[in-house]
Amino acid sequence: MKKFSLIFQELIYDFVHWAIQPLKPLLKPNSRMEKIIIPLEKLAKEVAYNCQMCGQCILHSTGMVCSMNCPKNLRNGPCGGVRLNGHCEVKPEMKCIWVRAYEGASLMPKYGAELLRVQPPVKRNLQDSSAWVNMLHGLDESSKVEWLSAEEQEKLEDLWSK
Ligand code: SF4
Repeated sequence: MKKFSLIFQELIYDFVHWAIQPLKPLLKPNSRMEKIIIPLEKLAKEVAYNCQMCGQCILHSTGMVCSMNCPKNLRNGPCGGVRLNGHCEVKPEMKCIWVRAYEGASLMPKYGAELLRVQPPVKRNLQDSSAWVNMLHGLDESSKVEWLSAEEQEKLEDLWSK
């Protein structure tokens, strides 16, 4: 059941990605249109993922779990404090976001391997802006450097598929 839900979410992600491309000329950063779209994006993603509006969404790379809900805002895997039961050291009642991300990614045929992608440092100046608008204009990518060569990335993805 969970697997079907995640496959469905992958399809939704692809659909949204495709559907907003033609809107690029309208959806400019800091525009009136962005101000209109922010509450819609917030509503949709808050209900489904408890989105924290970081403005640089990596949901599809983290098993459809929002890594900004990690109390330490870690975007590249868990800290050393995960408890033996898989719960968070800061909030013991909460399952570690990265345990959930691993579980989700393991069930995602299309984007699961992206869990291995090394994420760049979060850009705090994008907080509370629209991740959709930022993605359209590449603002979420601009701090990215090549953390891994294409060959290294391929090796990781091979390992994942075994
Ligand atoms: S990664 Fe950022 S934009 Fe995506 S759901 Fe989490 S806080 Fe929201």
